[in-house]
Amino acid sequence: MYQLRLCLLLFISTIVSLQAQQPKNHTSSEIYEAVQKLNFLGSVLYIAAHPDDENTRLISYMSNEVKARTAYLSLTRGDGGQNLIGPEIRELLGVIRTQELLAARRTDGGEQRFTRANDFGYSKHPDETLEIWNKDDVLADVVWAIRTFKPDVIINRFDHRRAGETHGHHTASAMLSMEAFDIVNDASKYSSQLELTETWQPKRLFYNTSWWRYGSQKEFDKLDKSNMLTFDVGKYYTSKGKSNNEIAALASSQHLSQGFGRLSERGSQNEYIEFLKGESLNNSDNIFEGIDTSWNRVSGGKAIGNILKSVETNFNFRNPSAHLPQLLEAYKLLQTIKDKHWRTVKTKELKTIIEACAGLYLEVSANTPSAAPSSDVKLNMEVLNRSTANINLASYNLSTLPTGISKNMPLASNQKLNFEDHISIPNKSKYTTPYWLNNKSTLGMYNVKNQNLIGLPETPRAVFVDFNLLIEGTPITITKPVVYRYSKPDKGELYRPFEIIPIVSASLSHKVYIFENDGQKDIEVTVKAGKDAITGFVQMAYPDGWQVFPQKQKIEIGNKGDIQKVMFTVIPPKNQSEGSITPMVNIDGKFYTDEIIEIDYAHIPFQTVLMPSESKVVRLDIKIQGNSIGYIEGAGDVVPESLRQIGYDVTIIKPEQITPENLDDFDAIVMGIRAYNIVEDLQFKQRFLLDYVKDGGNLIIQYNTSRGIKVDNLAPYDLQLSRDRVTDENALVRILEPNHPILNFPNKIGIQDFEGWVQERGLYFPDKWSTEFTPLLASNDKGENSKEGALLVAKYGKGNYIYTGLSFFREFPAGVPGAYRLFANLLSAGKQESNTLKN
Ligand SMILES: [Zn+2]
Repeated sequence: MYQLRLCLLLFISTIVSLQAQQPKNHTSSEIYEAVQKLNFLGSVLYIAAHPDDENTRLISYMSNEVKARTAYLSLTRGDGGQNLIGPEIRELLGVIRTQELLAARRTDGGEQRFTRANDFGYSKHPDETLEIWNKDDVLADVVWAIRTFKPDVIINRFDHRRAGETHGHHTASAMLSMEAFDIVNDASKYSSQLELTETWQPKRLFYNTSWWRYGSQKEFDKLDKSNMLTFDVGKYYTSKGKSNNEIAALASSQHLSQGFGRLSERGSQNEYIEFLKGESLNNSDNIFEGIDTSWNRVSGGKAIGNILKSVETNFNFRNPSAHLPQLLEAYKLLQTIKDKHWRTVKTKELKTIIEACAGLYLEVSANTPSAAPSSDVKLNMEVLNRSTANINLASYNLSTLPTGISKNMPLASNQKLNFEDHISIPNKSKYTTPYWLNNKSTLGMYNVKNQNLIGLPETPRAVFVDFNLLIEGTPITITKPVVYRYSKPDKGELYRPFEIIPIVSASLSHKVYIFENDGQKDIEVTVKAGKDAITGFVQMAYPDGWQVFPQKQKIEIGNKGDIQKVMFTVIPPKNQSEGSITPMVNIDGKFYTDEIIEIDYAHIPFQTVLMPSESKVVRLDIKIQGNSIGYIEGAGDVVPESLRQIGYDVTIIKPEQITPENLDDFDAIVMGIRAYNIVEDLQFKQRFLLDYVKDGGNLIIQYNTSRGIKVDNLAPYDLQLSRDRVTDENALVRILEPNHPILNFPNKIGIQDFEGWVQERGLYFPDKWSTEFTPLLASNDKGENSKEGALLVAKYGKGNYIYTGLSFFREFPAGVPGAYRLFANLLSAGKQESNTLKN
């Protein structure tokens, strides 16, 4: 894992040199391409379920070759996946993956949309998916995305006809798209949306098929393709010095948290789309057939089109500012057209082109990356006209003030204008945080009340400045969010979004505290000041039956950004019990209960997430046997620290340290998740592990995926992994061998130990094994046959070999008592003869 992480990090820092927040400066070629796009009035919406589902080759092709306004609607933000670059999971991973999608779209030229659907993990069937998601709400959001983006063409990534054959989220995304297509134009459907937008009818809907849909290229070649269109997505763009598939590879390589960094491809390559719905095509390969994608499409657009077509045809690459008079003329005409949708979309595009042609540089940087409500922030503004155009800064507006500030300053060519101002962050300002995390979500849905926010990739910036300019006498307002600009000696110039934070925040050091007996634990609270001179006290909210001392701890922090740590002693009740604790910071009679989580990776902008500061406390009725555990890390999990919490001494064994002498002393060796998929050394070291078992050791192997196992002999006996999984975390578990020592020592395991599990029971269970193995548990998802490979035990020599696909790595961080009790038994295998019990 360490090596993998290291090489991913190196990869991130070398290839993604462009800082995500740096202001974009356009080259002549980029301005020209923007003009070409400005002259195309057609749009494509690509629909799938997760970050990384999207086919960046096709998105890039639609955006860069066809010049269509192209967006990817990802129903979820991908919270359910795993993170290969850091510790963030669930909501925080969703925040990272949202930003990775935005980074991908900055690369391939698309836009990004979402729904409120929550990625709850693997789902076998769309029926289950749509039950957990609240189908009606997700359908409403797909309809909303279509009504607001107004695509002419929709392309589904997945096949709506394959229920049960692939991830349920995937099929569900296609099914919802099909259903939405038929109702978006019906004003009686989701009619409250129509207070904010209008109905819309896309012209046609396609499915982005591929050979893998048909099992092999050979099968696909045989297919009748009369209902399909094909595009060569390997097109080379001289203006970019890149081909379309190279751009696509760069875009999908933004999905680094998924380990999607990949090699680029060049040369001719075909993509296929199958016609599903809408107006059929008349033997043409133009997906926009029957739609006028020129400026004639909008009433009053002809005159605008004439001007802009001439700019495109006669584009001056040496001096794009020569086109300013024409662009401004088009801008004025554009403001008069009635079609609000196209007026808004094209005004935004045209303003960017005008700004770029004028070589305008407008920036507002704060003297601090963040500030609390009611505080004062110094702003530095840089205004620069790098053309010979006649430009005047008439005034500017701070978003925090109702009225503008008059300037009336001519911007002489290339003469920088710097001036300072300051803003008072309003007392009632909302804190900066992803809007979809503001309210408590359910397993299947984010809870967003404001319809205008639904679907947006991120929270609109709260603090910005409108620059009111007169460009050659034409008033144009350009808006810039406030940023924080700084430099680091080893990284150069860096940008961060400016953020509003609470005056104080508090965090606990762990997300779950396990009390393996009735002994007390000291728990540390870290309080961080969001402004200078904080005084107050911290107290702890805790569940009934528990005790916390002292009642209050005083805090006094001098400087913004500084922290103070305070300790509380937590005493659990005598019996098994669970609940949560929250540090509450009281400043001037007001309680603050949130923690600030900062996410900082080079390939995405700096993210600040505000979450309720809350940790689970669990008093376990657990006995443990043995003490020292060796852990060989796989793809990354928190199992080692979870085992430490219940009193084990856990040592991480690096691959190069796997030697007979090093293994000898451990009471048990545990393999991290997917270790056999990742750790190359295991092909040479597996024999030492099996010898360790033979000599009386206890080896516990957590799940591996069936593909790409690094060893020939995963087990001392025949053991075949499959893709069997039980995704329903509440699926009934049947105990096959109630008298087996592993289910009885030192803890008596019963059906109640499988209550309260999260996300799933387990995955990649073996489906074939030799008779030396004893299966202990059986379970299955609804409508499936019994899966008995979740926990297999075999005697080998004097020791025990245990293979388990149960999701301990998910249950431990969620503080699930039964998972701890069962794992303690796995660690104690073969020890019932020896010693007395620890507790
Ligand atoms: Zn997916």
